[in-house]
Amino acid sequence: MEPRRKFLKKIIAGTALLPLSATYGGELLRKKSTKPIVISTWDFGVAANKKAWEVLSRSGTALDAVEAGVRVAEADLSNKTVGKGGYPDRDGNVSLDACIMDHEGNCGSVGALEHIAHPISVARKVMEETPHVMLVGEGALQFAIDQGFQAEDLLTEDSKEAWQEWLKEKQYTPIMNIENKHFNKELLPGGQYNHDTIGMLALDEFGNLSGACTTSGMAFKMRGRVGDSPIIGAGLYVDNEVGGATSTGVGEEVMRTVGSFLVVELMRQGMSPEQACKEAVLRIVKKKPNVAREIQVGFLAINKKGEYGAYALQEGFTFAVCDENKQDSLFDGNSIY
Ligand code: ASP
Repeated sequence: MEPRRKFLKKIIAGTALLPLSATYGGELLRKKSTKPIVISTWDFGVAANKKAWEVLSRSGTALDAVEAGVRVAEADLSNKTVGKGGYPDRDGNVSLDACIMDHEGNCGSVGALEHIAHPISVARKVMEETPHVMLVGEGALQFAIDQGFQAEDLLTEDSKEAWQEWLKEKQYTPIMNIENKHFNKELLPGGQYNHDTIGMLALDEFGNLSGACTTSGMAFKMRGRVGDSPIIGAGLYVDNEVGGATSTGVGEEVMRTVGSFLVVELMRQGMSPEQACKEAVLRIVKKKPNVAREIQVGFLAINKKGEYGAYALQEGFTFAVCDENKQDSLFDGNSIY
């Protein structure tokens, strides 16, 4: 038998020769032949991907990339559906939902979080600093403050004006179908879409996948309403053996079908990302054909090979892709209607 010291020496020498360039949770990550790529929902995904790509292209992890990427959308005050500047609930409170998931199946989430501009970073802290997956409302805020996040007013003048306009109409019932092509967007102040989410998925050069999802949810929603976006399995799911998926659109229908988990499981059974997204959308159609015609839901997915695809109920769902060959790319997702 080899003496123990000699054996250890061999291992250490071998390790030193390996191209190690990052650590995660104390673990050394080895480069694989995987080409990094990041994808995300909607037009605002282009700017967010750019930031994520800065991380990926410098041998960063997918987890760091998706957090940095979606923070761009959260910080954009002109974005009325994500982060600070997002439209408030029907009582005028901006409440945010977000979640994050890594290649080891670790995940963290916050729901109905107020006063914190970057819920995705709070979700990451929930994942890394607590034994829990999800914190909501007051408790999530308290945790964020304990972690050093600054509490601030998230209601911008623009969003306040839009909310006050909306109050005049006294449409105290949330509108769920603003993205439907038949819907008159002029009915909303500023003709704005009243919901959207940034869902982002990244594959790093270590062959690992992570995802992030963040939103202010439905504009003028009922106080306390939480959508699919912070729900692991609904708004986001990552399985490093298979792939990852994220969703946008009317969260209630995504939650009823546990949409992102479904997409990943369908990819596990051999479907391409686009086929899996289409099948998940069809599940909504099958369960609620009348509702499905009137609302928007879109899924975006990536597999372990870095192949990606999307599918939506209605046309108009866009997604952004960034890798070493494609920068600033925006695609139209296929749709049922
Ligand atoms: N899925 C989000 C929610 O239901 C909204 C959206 O993406 O349009 O809160």
